[in-house]
Amino acid sequence: MDVNAALADASTVPFWLDSEQRTKPLPPLSHDLEADLVIVGGGFTGLWTALQAKERDPKRHVVLVEANSIGWAASGRNGGFCAASLTHGYDNGESHLPKENERLAQLGRENLAAIGEAVTRYGMDVEFERTGELDVATEDYQVPELREAHDPEAGFIFYNQEELAQIVKSPTYKGALWDSREVVMVNPAKLCWELLRVIRELGVEVFEGTKVTDVSDRKSTVQVTTSSQVDGQDGGQDAEDSATISAKRVALATNVFPSLLKRASLHTVPVYDYALMTEPLDDEQLESIGWGGRQGIGDCANRFHYYRLSADNRILFGGWDAVYHYGRQVSWKYDQRPETFETLAEHFYETFPQLADLKFSHKWGGPIDTCSRFFSFFTTAYGKKVAMAAGFTGLGVGASRFAGTVMLDLLSGQDTELTQLEMVRRMPLPFPPEPVAWLGIQMTTNALIKADGNEGRRGPLLKALDAVGMGFDS
Ligand SMILES: Cc1cc2nc3c(=O)[nH]c(=O)nc-3n(C[C@H](O)[C@H](O)[C@H](O)COP(=O)(O)OP(=O)(O)OC[C@H]3O[C@@H](n4cnc5c(N)ncnc54)[C@H](O)[C@@H]3O)c2cc1C
Repeated sequence: MDVNAALADASTVPFWLDSEQRTKPLPPLSHDLEADLVIVGGGFTGLWTALQAKERDPKRHVVLVEANSIGWAASGRNGGFCAASLTHGYDNGESHLPKENERLAQLGRENLAAIGEAVTRYGMDVEFERTGELDVATEDYQVPELREAHDPEAGFIFYNQEELAQIVKSPTYKGALWDSREVVMVNPAKLCWELLRVIRELGVEVFEGTKVTDVSDRKSTVQVTTSSQVDGQDGGQDAEDSATISAKRVALATNVFPSLLKRASLHTVPVYDYALMTEPLDDEQLESIGWGGRQGIGDCANRFHYYRLSADNRILFGGWDAVYHYGRQVSWKYDQRPETFETLAEHFYETFPQLADLKFSHKWGGPIDTCSRFFSFFTTAYGKKVAMAAGFTGLGVGASRFAGTVMLDLLSGQDTELTQLEMVRRMPLPFPPEPVAWLGIQMTTNALIKADGNEGRRGPLLKALDAVGMGFDS
């Protein structure tokens, strides 16, 4: 099918958020407050922090403040691959934190198990599917590494081309490794809304449409200043309303948005990622691709695709381009990128030519908070009354819960196993200011594309970045 025709009627709303189950807006904060804990940001990180804070101490007065609406940002528009890894893959953890990588892998498995337990305990309807993930080779040179990782006892199963053809039918596949235990699929927006339901049931006060403009030290407390738009009454003009919260502790879960702590403002850059969703497949179309195991799928190059089935049997197909805009800009206008959608659509039909008649129902994008080590970092301020977590890069659906655990430990003032981790104590290298950041990111992106065309061999720039701990490898 002509890709433009296939994309022509696609909605620009992220598929997961385009749902009747989307929660009704909660009123903004309009009066001053006191709280034991204020959480800034209503994505996964903020929501999991709130849930765990209440589980630790049900009497604690917890307030969550969200500038827009719960789950509207990365948390409501991602691929829904919920992975155990806290380090953007085992190998990336090994290159950055070799001494504690094994322990981090274990903590990641425990974190994923805890997510599953919370889903069950609170009866959350989040389309949770323990499918695992297939890493597929689409080039011959990618096969040996997958074959070597075959380790059935650990849940890693290698399939050669013939075996794989019985599992998912694509002419592009050369082999695959199935990580059967450490990735689950979720509907990410539903997970946000269900977490919202649960934390409100546990007594967390939640304010939407309320932006935190400043966080400042007041000796024994922290002053959180907020601003919100108030509808003009009787046709009058909208007005700005401001309020303050006097908080004993503050957790910052603002992800890719401008940091409320200056010290962390150069540690992430927003890199845009894009996805398409198809119309639902009918039985015949499903039959033509196999995929009865409904695994999440990712291919192995530096520029990779990720794809999966939704509960109503659509295919989400995302990835490939990673786009940085000069000056660390985050803007709704970048959420749409026709040239990337066309490329993704072409790649979709190459992957599944048997679905040539299938159209796309949704197309969207969003910024990923990329840091130079590609997994979350933590910092504190004002005598550990404020903690912050960010930098998940492409793998924050599962790791965000762990980030909440760490922030609560940091705010407790106690030394715990988690606060002593090198992962928690050591920040990644910051990105340089412009124009160097922009130039550096363009050059790195081009070098990664070149390596893909060169059987994965890394050129001098990537080797130099690897040597200083800033090398990306999907
Ligand atoms: C297209 C895309 C696909 C992805 N796919 C995957 C995937 O399949 N698997 C995976 O693991 N990860 C994926 N990710 C990454 C993952 O979505 C994120 O790492 C994760 O959602 C981060 O959660 P968060 O709560 O930290 O951030 P967010 O969801 O961005 O939430 C931050 C919130 O803070 C609010 N905020 C910011 N500043 C303020 C302020 N000053 N005052 C009040 N509120 C504020 C924002 O409005 C926002 O709601 C993807 C990301 C994108 C964009």
